[in-house]
Formats: sequence, structure tokens, C-alpha cells
Amino acid sequence: MTERRFTRIQTELPGPQSAAVFERKARYVAAPLETYAPFIVRKSEGAIIEDLDGNRFLDFSGGWGCLAVGQRNERVVAALKDQLDAYLHTDFTAVPYAPLVDLAEALCERTAIDGEKRAAFFNSGAEAVENAVKIARAFTKRKGVLVFENAFHGRTLLAMTMTHKAVPYKAGFGPFAPDVFRLPYPYEYRTSLSEADLERALLATVDPSEVAAMVVEPIVGEGGFLVPPDWFLPALRRLADAHGFVLVFDEVQTGIGRTGRFFAFEHFGVQPDLVCTAKSLGSGLPLSGVVGKAEVMDAPIPSAIGGTYAGNPLACRAAIEVLKMLDDGTLLERATAIGDRIKARFRALGERFDAVGDVRGLGSMVGMELVTDRATKEPAKALTGRIANAAIRNGAVFPTAGLYGNVLRVLVSLVISDDEIDEGMDILEQAFEEALR
Ligand code: PLP
Repeated sequence: MTERRFTRIQTELPGPQSAAVFERKARYVAAPLETYAPFIVRKSEGAIIEDLDGNRFLDFSGGWGCLAVGQRNERVVAALKDQLDAYLHTDFTAVPYAPLVDLAEALCERTAIDGEKRAAFFNSGAEAVENAVKIARAFTKRKGVLVFENAFHGRTLLAMTMTHKAVPYKAGFGPFAPDVFRLPYPYEYRTSLSEADLERALLATVDPSEVAAMVVEPIVGEGGFLVPPDWFLPALRRLADAHGFVLVFDEVQTGIGRTGRFFAFEHFGVQPDLVCTAKSLGSGLPLSGVVGKAEVMDAPIPSAIGGTYAGNPLACRAAIEVLKMLDDGTLLERATAIGDRIKARFRALGERFDAVGDVRGLGSMVGMELVTDRATKEPAKALTGRIANAAIRNGAVFPTAGLYGNVLRVLVSLVISDDEIDEGMDILEQAFEEALR
């Protein structure tokens, strides 16, 4: 273990200042808003978080994948300060403003879909998904929505229905939205799926001529960082073309450089009709978007989509800076290099510890699936929790994921340095030792 340079744990967790806030949280904040880290943030820069008690952590969660350009990126902060001095809110549909138009132009220009494009903005990933479905329904004049196993699309009624994992996301929240149909998604570590299997599943599930949209994550995020085989997304494109439904890629987690391309679908030689984006687009400000083919985007009647805060000027100013910062390719290359460095360390952990069942990912989106037995592949949920917990207590925050909660994943800021990564990986290795002791 090398000497700590970036992290510092100087109290029990939570320390006294954090504990006082947690005590008030328990009294006043609704219980379902469960928190992951056992400390309260005081300040954060790049990939480092300092808590109220002076402890310092390396953050591999990146605000659940929102901080591609880093916490408080200086160009984002400067644009926000400039906007604060101009105006905060008018509602674009009441009194329009240029930053939303600038962002729409910037996003359309950077989205690798041929032909004329349009963009619309909202506040959250779930809202982007809901609106993509509304737009597809208006365009096709059909109702059906096809989604996939292991999907996460958000927590509003339709997005929650489209999400797969029942506990905790759907527990006690039915009845669910109608006309949502689910197909298998390739999970190569656990099951095999062929194109013929997929087509059979489609025909057995719904009449494809009643389907408005197929919504899919190009790489599954919350569901466990599943990278599909090369045939999968092109096969979905062929199905959409054959049956006349709209193909929507939910790039809320995978987009904005995370996988080493602007959007992850660019790795697979395929184009969707619509893309949902959020998270790192706004660099921490609430912002999401749907971008795609003009004839599809323009289908709903005037005023049919929108929202009071949709595409608010502060968030748009932040997003314009984010998009410009990705343009010279440095951060995209960095995403790939970060992923390679972390994968190498994850694989080295696999050589030391039998609990590592699979290491997978694309670009900086890297995950590690933990099992109690490599032969049976039984998910090691409790162990995953113990490792994540030990890592936090030693100074590094790693989120978990997956249907079984047994995937450690990385959604780190792309401005993290190699030295910071190495320190984080040392902490994770120590966490393995402690959890398996
Ligand atoms: N879609 C995907 C792929 C996501 O990963 C998420 C959030 O993690 C969402 C949609 C929902 O986004 P939000 O929480 O902003 O509503």
C-alpha cells in the first residue's frame, strides 16, 4: 500500500459533525431517501470529497455518474456565475432565451444520427425517457413500449414501469403503466441470447405493429454494467425498421463521454431515432434532453411537451461548457485510459480473490461482478456490501449495482488523475482483504 496522498480519514464515520446532520435527517427527511455514504459533504473538487469532519474521500460514484468534467469544473462554474448575473428563470415557453437554443444546436451537432435533428430539454433522466415515449407515440400513433430485462429508466410512473428491478424501485407502487412489454437483454456472464431468441421473444410478447417505441440502454447501467455483444444493437435497429417503431437509446448514464465516445452507441455502428441524455450533460445541474430525427421530434402538437423548469438557463449554460470541453477528444481518450487502468487493477484483484466472477465495461464504465463461487456464479451480495463499506471507511466511494446488488461499479469523473485512481484501487484492495478476512 502506497502512502495516502489524496484521502484522509481522521474520525470514526460518521464523524461528530456529520453524525449531528444524520440525526436531524432521521427526524425530518422522509425515510425512503436512504443515503449511501456515512458522511456529509462539506466541499468537493474534481474527484475528491471532503466531509464536515475534515475526512477526505476519492469519489468513484461521481454523483451517480453526473460529473464527467469533474466537480465544480471551473468553466462550468464561470458560466454559471455569468448566468447568475443575467437572469435565473423565465420559462422558455413564456419568454425564450438563447442558451437553450445554443444547447439544442450544440447537442444536435454532436449527435451521430444522420439528417436533420431537433432537441428538447427536461429536468431528469426519467422525464427524458417519458418524453421520448410520448414523442414516439405521437409519431407512430401506436401505444406499445418495448423495454428490456435489467433496465433502469427512472422512478416516475411510466419510467418505473419500464424499469425492471422490482425491489426497491417498484415495491408497493402499482398499478403500473399499461402497454409496456419486456424482452431479454444479453447478460453474457450468466446466460446466452441469440438474435433468433430475441426475435422469438418479441413475437411471443406483443404484436410489433402495435409498438411505438423500443427503449434500450446501449450498456446497462444500474442493472449491472452489461455490455451487449456486437450483434445486439444492430439487430434492434433491424427490428425497428422492419416493424416501424421508434428506436430510443437511453444514454442517461452511458452518454456524454463516459464510454470514450460522445454517446456509447457510436461503438456499435448503429443509429437510433432518438437518444435520451441527462446526468453528466448538466454537470450536477438538473438537466436532461431528448435529441433525434427531426420528423420524429416534431410529431407532437405544439405545447404537448415541456415543463416549467425544462431546460432552465443555468443548466443549459453548464451543459454548453460540458459539450465544448468534450470536443478536442482529450476527455474521451481519458475515459478509455481510465477504464483500462481500472480494469487492469480489477483483473489483478481477480487473480488474488476468487470472489471476482467477472470484470467488464466500456471506456470508464467498468464493473466487477462478485460471486460466492466461480462455478455456480451465485451472487455475493452481502460480500459486495461489505467491500463497498470497507472501501468508504478507508476513503474511497464505490457504488454498487445489478439485479442482485453484487456489482461494484465505477462512475468516476474523467478528470481523475492516475495517482488518484491508483490510491483508490489500493483502498479497494485493502477493502477486499478486510471484508474477506
Ligand atoms: N435512465 C438511465 C439509464 C439511468 O441510469 C437513470 C438514472 O440512473 C435514469 C434513466 C433516471 O434518471 P433520473 O434519476 O435523473 O430520473
